[in-house]
Amino acid sequence: MMDGNLPNDIEKIVEADRAHVWHHLTQHKPFETGEPRIIVEGRGMRVWDQHGKEHIDAVSGGVWTVNVGYGRERIANAVRDQLIKLNYFAGSAGSVPGALFSEKLISKMPGMSRVYYTNSGSEANEKAFKMVRQIAHKRYGGKKHKILYRERDYHGTTIAALSAGGQDERNAQYGPFTPGFVRVPHCLEYRAQWDLSGEEYGQRAADAIEEVILAEGPDTVGALCLEPVTAGGGVITPPPGYWPRVQEICRKYDILLHIDEVVCGIGRTGTWFGYQHYGVEPDFVTMAKGVASGYAAIACCVTNEKVFDMFKEDASDPMDYFRDISTFGGCTAGPAAALENMAIIEEEGLLENTVAMGDYMLDQLNALKDKHEVIGDVRGKGLFLGAELVADRASKEPVPEKQVQAVVGDCMAQGVVIGATNRSIPGFNNTLCYSPALIARKDDIDQIIEATDKALTKVFG
Ligand code: PLP
Repeated sequence: MMDGNLPNDIEKIVEADRAHVWHHLTQHKPFETGEPRIIVEGRGMRVWDQHGKEHIDAVSGGVWTVNVGYGRERIANAVRDQLIKLNYFAGSAGSVPGALFSEKLISKMPGMSRVYYTNSGSEANEKAFKMVRQIAHKRYGGKKHKILYRERDYHGTTIAALSAGGQDERNAQYGPFTPGFVRVPHCLEYRAQWDLSGEEYGQRAADAIEEVILAEGPDTVGALCLEPVTAGGGVITPPPGYWPRVQEICRKYDILLHIDEVVCGIGRTGTWFGYQHYGVEPDFVTMAKGVASGYAAIACCVTNEKVFDMFKEDASDPMDYFRDISTFGGCTAGPAAALENMAIIEEEGLLENTVAMGDYMLDQLNALKDKHEVIGDVRGKGLFLGAELVADRASKEPVPEKQVQAVVGDCMAQGVVIGATNRSIPGFNNTLCYSPALIARKDDIDQIIEATDKALTKVFG
């Protein structure tokens, strides 16, 4: 049940939205003729729209963000108290919640030691890219400046982040891009690029990174930036053997390892961070969405002491520091909310719940695969799952995007919000995405699966 009432003037609000708001990732024409969707309220895993219609949210705010669910008064109160005490001071000074959250975060990240605050995932990644470039100048005469990124990974919306973007449908028409970013192949075994399987496949996919490094020249490559599990690019879990080999390659060529945890971070896959499943030791970890579950805008670029030390080599040099600032990196609402967010995850056992419910949901999706020929592959980790839709299991021909959207639309009509991977360019854009809040229970998952089952039957028979 919705807690409050709809605003009295909801029709006027909808018109104001249609007239003046430029919605993200939305085509203009259908938006002008159709009715915009406005989400008015949220509670737990459910949201209500402008008609008071209830939806169960299987994608945590649409983009893997509201990890602890909606309506958490405890976070709101902590933010309110902090805002009254001190809302802001530039990040060249410290703050009480900034210090406390850093300490708490680092306690969950053995090997890491420093937190640089900013306000979006794109920016957190830009900070890491800038650090890599500055290290190249400080240590290697500017030469070791190239940053490798992987096909199908996404690191943000700014031009430099898009330059590291492996999804062409996001990049098309936004070039020219920043030089010095070099692409390596994806590692999705379902769409295998090598005639191998299991660990051998994983090692081969990692060896493909080494081939790029050797072609570029190892003395020109400063960093490798990867998502632990590729999110919007197709919910791609790494094959066994992949990560250990990646780590080995980075060490061999003195290449810094940057892991983009903007989606997987803070519990989504059942550990605090996705990389922690794979025993990896990163140099940079960037995070945003789930850090404060969307209760405040906060993002972090976390480094180890090795990286931090590279910026304090010569105290007599006035240029020897990270010459960067992020105005809203000094907002205190973010770390205040993030502290409560982490406390909730710990106190309510949400990592454990994510593992248990993730296993359950994976089983349920696999049962759907047994029933629906159109599901070619089911994959994921924790409460971050995908079901890839194919027109033919043998050829793995992706279903047309229109049909993927029809499934999403039918679930929406049934009051269930699910997602799909990015649009427009065929291949990889045919995966249904599920990332319910970490508080999900079996009956929530059953509702999501039932809606998907009905939608698949409706669209594909
Ligand atoms: N990195 C990954 C893996 C993402 O999925 C996203 C956004 O979806 C970003 C970075 C960019 O984050 P933001 O939209 O906060 O800039």
